[in-house]
Amino acid sequence: MRVHNFSAGPAALPLAVLERARDELTDYQGTGMSVMEMSHRSKAFIDIAERAEQACRTLLAVPDNYRILFLQGGATAQFAAVPLNLLGPRTSADYVNTGAWSVKAIKEMARYGNARVIASAEDTSFDRVPDPAQWQRDADAAYLHICSNETIGGVQFADFAADLSLPGVPLVADMSSDILSRPLAIEQFGLIYAGAQKNIGPAGLTLVIVRDDLLDQAQAHTPSVLSYRVQADADSMSNTPPTYAWYLAGLVFDWLLEQGGLTAMAQANGAKAETLYGLIDASNFFHSPVEPGSRSQMNVPFTLPDKALDAAFLAGAEAAGLMNLKGHRSVGGMRASLYNAVGQESVDALCQFMQDFEREHR
Ligand code: PMP
Repeated sequence: MRVHNFSAGPAALPLAVLERARDELTDYQGTGMSVMEMSHRSKAFIDIAERAEQACRTLLAVPDNYRILFLQGGATAQFAAVPLNLLGPRTSADYVNTGAWSVKAIKEMARYGNARVIASAEDTSFDRVPDPAQWQRDADAAYLHICSNETIGGVQFADFAADLSLPGVPLVADMSSDILSRPLAIEQFGLIYAGAQKNIGPAGLTLVIVRDDLLDQAQAHTPSVLSYRVQADADSMSNTPPTYAWYLAGLVFDWLLEQGGLTAMAQANGAKAETLYGLIDASNFFHSPVEPGSRSQMNVPFTLPDKALDAAFLAGAEAAGLMNLKGHRSVGGMRASLYNAVGQESVDALCQFMQDFEREHR
């Protein structure tokens, strides 16, 4: 029995991927061992690692002058790794504050340098991406940091204008919760990072896509495990990488290619989001706290007219096999995460339940 899993992360994985992993669990392709039991230096694993990287490169059309790193430590480690590696001789970097994950990145950066908040939506309860025309950019910033999708607030950059950052200032994006949900122009970014546990695979793996020229500015005291240069030179194996998570990510990349790649995913994700926001907007019962132009296709927060109904909503949803709809503890309400592995049928089931619930409680 599989439920409809709307978890924000770790989150639903494609069933076909889990079944493939199950079939290969104890004997990976005649090696007589599980991928979990293999040396990361073995030929079998190096082959898995290289194929995963290649599939990722194909999916995202990553140009040759970018390295793809498979690291540990989550996006949280990258909050520190980014300033440690990219500040170089400069002392400050620009940050756009769109919500809880931006705030965490800013706080961590402030331990290493001056995190200049050049735009913030805090005064409107993080209900939007601040208009880029108003950003107070610094031409001397080491980089400009954005969070492309705020997992808790459900605020997403609808697209990335070519001039989001000033010339010569690399654009850095935390894409933990929307990477692989739509095609990207990687050339617009100096660096992209993402924890795996939403759209890539299981927790424990962090993907970093970094332009070559940004590999060599690390502070001398940067821990080598966080150094992009050290990890790039070691093919992400300066220490033991999260081998099983890397393998599963490779299976997810293959699955995405089979689905038609990121153009197909963007279409499916757009349709799912439209279904759910359409229902919310058509109703006077459910409410979305986010401005229409900044609404996330991945994480859809919504509220009921009275908090007193929340418990009944969640209990009814669970009884209908609709799991993990409780909003983040910091904001309350509900949140449905609609990552790549969540099918239209799950969204349709959720909408059916919401309509029935509204009829009963209106
Ligand atoms: N950034 C975003 C946008 C996230 O959603 C999360 C995790 N939910 C993080 C950073 C932190 O990731 P991790 O827990 O993997 O360090």
